[in-house]
Amino acid sequence: VIEIRDLHKSYGSLEVLKGVSIRADRGEVISLIGSSGSGKSTLLRCCNLLEDSQRGEVLFRGEAVKWAGEGLARRPADRAQVTRFRTNLSMVFQQFNLWSHMTILQNVMEAPVTVLKRDPREVETLARSLLDKVGIGDKADNWPAQLSGGQQQRAAIARALCMQPEALLFDEPTSALDPELQQEVVKVIKDLANEHRTMILVTHDMRLAADVSDHVIFLHKGLIEEEGPPAQLFGAPKSERLQQFLSASV
Ligand code: ATP
Ligand code: MG
Repeated sequence: VIEIRDLHKSYGSLEVLKGVSIRADRGEVISLIGSSGSGKSTLLRCCNLLEDSQRGEVLFRGEAVKWAGEGLARRPADRAQVTRFRTNLSMVFQQFNLWSHMTILQNVMEAPVTVLKRDPREVETLARSLLDKVGIGDKADNWPAQLSGGQQQRAAIARALCMQPEALLFDEPTSALDPELQQEVVKVIKDLANEHRTMILVTHDMRLAADVSDHVIFLHKGLIEEEGPPAQLFGAPKSERLQQFLSASV
């Protein structure tokens, strides 16, 4: 469903992605792991065109992004295509990013109603069922500030799901949470994996990556250093850098 081919991305003179290729087929869960600054968030944001890139291809359902310009001036050429990518690849951030002036229900309903122009009554039914699904159906009319971090993150996941996206992109969804609260979010992510949702997950939680992933990618300084099924990556890492990274992260 999502494919990146030989992607290069720089911030000014700093080259952050140096030719990275990844692919998530329908129903697959891909995890991105690696040290701070290795380019995980940047790669994730390139998937739904939140970031520009200078070289390489980004594809969604086999459709390649059309570009205008070259190098640092390269931008997506087709606004409608960008919207199609964004709405189909819903993102969940480390800091939840709920709108503080809207109730939880309004947060979940906002984008489907305003961006996708869907019938508010239908969206409300879906939104309430998604809040139930993530275990906070009773919080629909609360403000974000009235929820715990774990509840806020589950609301953010319900909001992403309410777009009925083709895939979900998670950027360290548990990193801002206390350990007890991480588990409630981990459970929701595991449920989604069991439903065979397509997901790309950036995480520092190696247990989570091992449990939910079909494929794990270890990024190092903007390149894929090693990748494979979780049993192989975690059980028998070949690269010395990956071995060091894993021994430092337990
Ligand atoms: P972390 O685990 O800390 O979240 P990461 O693997 O997600 O790290 P990125 O956020 O992708 O890393 O950053 C990769 C590199 O790009 C880092 O060196 C970072 O400083 C740099 N970088 C990220 N965003 C920007 C930006 N907007 N402008 C300039 N440099 C940036
Ligand atoms: Mg990051």
